[in-house]
Amino acid sequence: MPDTGLQIASSAILGITGLTVAVIAVLIARHDRASRNVPFILLLACVAVYATFYSIEIASPTLEAKLLLVKFEYLGIAFIPFFWILTALRFANRDYWLSIPVYLFLALIPLTTITLYITFEHHEFYYTGWHLDTAGPFPMFVAEHGPWFWVQMAWQNLMLLGGNLLFSAAWRNASAPNRRRAGIMLLASAIPWAAHLAYLFGFRPHQIELSSLAMAISCIVFSRGVFRYGLVDLAPVARSLVFNQIDDAVLVLDRASHVSDCNQVFRQLFPEIAALHDESPLKRIRVTSEPLAGLVRHAQGDPPHGEYIDVQIGETVLRCRFMRLSNNRGKLIGRALVFTDISDHVAMRNDLRRLASTDLLTGVGNRRFFLALADREIGRRLRRPTPISLAIIDLDFFKGFNDDFGHQAGDEVLRMVATTCQHCLRQTDIFGRYGGEEFAVCMPETDAASAMQVAERLRRSIANLVFEHGTASRAITISVGVANSRAEDEISLDDLLGRADSALYRAKANGRNCVVLASPETREVTA
Ligand code: GH3
Ligand code: MG
Ligand code: MG
Repeated sequence: MPDTGLQIASSAILGITGLTVAVIAVLIARHDRASRNVPFILLLACVAVYATFYSIEIASPTLEAKLLLVKFEYLGIAFIPFFWILTALRFANRDYWLSIPVYLFLALIPLTTITLYITFEHHEFYYTGWHLDTAGPFPMFVAEHGPWFWVQMAWQNLMLLGGNLLFSAAWRNASAPNRRRAGIMLLASAIPWAAHLAYLFGFRPHQIELSSLAMAISCIVFSRGVFRYGLVDLAPVARSLVFNQIDDAVLVLDRASHVSDCNQVFRQLFPEIAALHDESPLKRIRVTSEPLAGLVRHAQGDPPHGEYIDVQIGETVLRCRFMRLSNNRGKLIGRALVFTDISDHVAMRNDLRRLASTDLLTGVGNRRFFLALADREIGRRLRRPTPISLAIIDLDFFKGFNDDFGHQAGDEVLRMVATTCQHCLRQTDIFGRYGGEEFAVCMPETDAASAMQVAERLRRSIANLVFEHGTASRAITISVGVANSRAEDEISLDDLLGRADSALYRAKANGRNCVVLASPETREVTA
């Protein structure tokens, strides 16, 4: 007995389900700014096509109409396994398995299926026969299956199973906040089995295939997970936005230290590596150019999470922090190298260091700078005995410049003396402003005779200077006390300074504008 009511109801249920899936596909497509859900959207589209055309097929009474409609259904059916597995790979974060050959392999059977199906009247690969079954409450299209039908069935089940395994892996690896969603996805991925097995075992109420309905329900549950728990992807979208908008450059390596991802800042900093990654994002790229390759090697040595190394690239100083990436079970899945530009910080630190060791008036090293470097030279002598000399320079009657021409004139004289001394000295000599109008020179690996020559050269150069102030002019002179320690003698910096100071005192007493060498081993006796 034909039952038009049942026919309309069956058709309507399938039609509404198909349209629902189509609407969901559109909604997700409109939300999906990061286009992460493209495989899922296409899966929904295939399911919608399948269910919608199936509903029309059920409603249509003639074999001719049904023969046309089943072909439209197959546009969906053939590609469901393809997009299903892509969706699962994406959800399980395994899309790096995909490459052009893998895509081609996965598409091979769907493409063959669709080709054979469109032309099924002309061969016996898909159907060996078909007819309109009018025994039930409404006419149904029934076919006898050829060999490729079973290939398609096997492939469909294999992909379905593969998807289940991926969803279960994603569920097992999910971190606490994502676990519930991953659980729903796993459950949804199991729904098609129910109808699928029913179909295989011949359970077809009124000859209706339940697999389209089951697939649609599965997709609706998936979408629920998608909307409710934000797979559409607030978390990944937000994550990728943050990833690409932070000021730090990030390079993500997989466990084998191949480039797995990098963010926008990294692309600007290392365009050549970003270009390699862009060309073939799915290939395993190894970093070979220094200094990055060195950092990657360091990462392979399993440095503690958060350890950092500073590297200089051109003018830029980068602090590279090593991060371990683990899944929720603590298993290492990769590493991230996070680069922070610390150039400003380093420049500021260097400025501070320089300021702390520079005499602001004359621009030469200050007392602290001089003592620190001289002390380092004294320390070096302990390991490798060499002679060392030290001279203290004092301006003669300097107070007179201040008194007669003003303090600023005195400052100018100090600058002239500092500059002139610096020009007369060697690279290895350490020069600094020792006190008010006193300067000091430490001469490593210099014996007494050479030191006296240097001091004499300084004295003469200064004596050639003439300070002019308006119409007045005045010669500048210095007195120099020199102390020396022979290679075989041990001496402290204090002793050396003390002896030079005593020699200076003697130079002043001798009438100024002269150089006096402290006698070896004894301090100049001061009166
Ligand atoms: P002597 O030949 O015995 O060394 O005589 P002198 O006048 O050079 O020595 P004295 O120690 O009497 O005077 C040093 C003066 O140097 C006193 C101080 O006011 C001046 N002075 C110290 N530091 C500065 C400075 O930074 N700028 C100026 N303009 N004067 C300074
Ligand atoms: Mg003095
Ligand atoms: Mg003086």
